[in-house]
Amino acid sequence: MKAKASPDLSGSPFCATLWPVIEPTPSPSLPELQSDVSLAELSTLKVGGVGRWFVQVREVEHLQQVWTWARQQPIAILYLGDGSNILFSDHGFPGLMIRNGFKGRDRSGEEEVEVGAAESLEEVIVWLNHLGLQGMERMFGIPGTIGGALVGNAGAYGQEIGDRVVDINVWMDGEVQVFPASAFDFRYRCSAFKEHPDWFILKCRLRLSKCSEDLQEISNEILSRRLVKYPTDLRCPGSFFKNVVLDELSKETAVRVPDDFIMFGKVPAGKLLETVGANGVRRGDAQFADYHGNLMINLGQASSRDILELANKYAGRVFDRFGIQLQPEVVIVDDGQWPHLQTGASMFRKHE
Ligand SMILES: Cc1cc2nc3c(=O)[nH]c(=O)nc-3n(C[C@H](O)[C@H](O)[C@H](O)COP(=O)(O)OP(=O)(O)OC[C@H]3O[C@@H](n4cnc5c(N)ncnc54)[C@H](O)[C@@H]3O)c2cc1C
Repeated sequence: MKAKASPDLSGSPFCATLWPVIEPTPSPSLPELQSDVSLAELSTLKVGGVGRWFVQVREVEHLQQVWTWARQQPIAILYLGDGSNILFSDHGFPGLMIRNGFKGRDRSGEEEVEVGAAESLEEVIVWLNHLGLQGMERMFGIPGTIGGALVGNAGAYGQEIGDRVVDINVWMDGEVQVFPASAFDFRYRCSAFKEHPDWFILKCRLRLSKCSEDLQEISNEILSRRLVKYPTDLRCPGSFFKNVVLDELSKETAVRVPDDFIMFGKVPAGKLLETVGANGVRRGDAQFADYHGNLMINLGQASSRDILELANKYAGRVFDRFGIQLQPEVVIVDDGQWPHLQTGASMFRKHE
């Protein structure tokens, strides 16, 4: 194997601190493997440099083949859904991205369904609504795949996918394993998958409840509310930071939060950011929406640097004013130095 500096990645923090940039041995037996793909095209934020390797897998055999090849290379692996909760680096990603293509849905019981991780959350909700199965209809309008939703325990308007999970089929250590929901520690916008980026979700079983209401009408009403905040084609990753769970704050910090900021046991990150002047602030083509402090938008040609500098600066202001360290909800694939942001350096398998 020959060591070779990649021109696309020169100067990248990835090169400097995490991985030697060594060219993997191309494998002719992996015809669907693509190289040098645009990361901007793989995320709803439309930001990012070049991803070195990319493949979409739809079957376990193909996954096994790709995974085995990748394990033999000095490269990191990043699993991907629809990229609606991810911020890639301008410097690109020097490893292999494996995009989930495991589709399929089936009613496996009176109140149970099995769903492939690559299924669109929105389409699954329309299907559940049609089946008269209640429990996720208020999450309608959240973009992305079922797999991505499970990783971040996606939710909205009082519902979260984690509450519906029976079990999940995961690719782990080179084989498919099935675990019950309790193994994944679902909590507010988080799950065990966040700490185990080497687990790849293939499918899950969900339990809903039968219902005679018009569920699609509820979903449509939610969607019309959501469209005010998220107009179609907005380049964004949803909320940039998580809301703050009041019970997780120390007493000294909690008293610094004005009472009227607190909603259902949480402090909206948008309210904190608005207070420190984030709304409408722009750097290059990155902007905090003028109508919402927790919405970072790419106005056209934003760089990840623009976005991270803005986010870091205003998270810092929140910390100075309230003593609260905001946690990004978006997955940041960058290991630059951002004291107020968690970046994704720990996400990837380093070369062993
Ligand atoms: C306009 C807009 C509105 C949004 N509103 C909401 C909202 O109301 N509530 C909410 O919770 N979220 C919201 N989001 C965020 C986003 O839609 C969700 O987090 C979504 O569930 C991410 O799914 P994805 O397939 O796009 O995941 P990706 O962005 O592709 O990936 C997210 C993370 O999951 C990992 N991952 C993805 N698939 C797999 C897999 N199969 N196995 C293992 N790891 C995997 C990735 O490595 C990454 O770490 C919004 C986003 C946008 C753009």
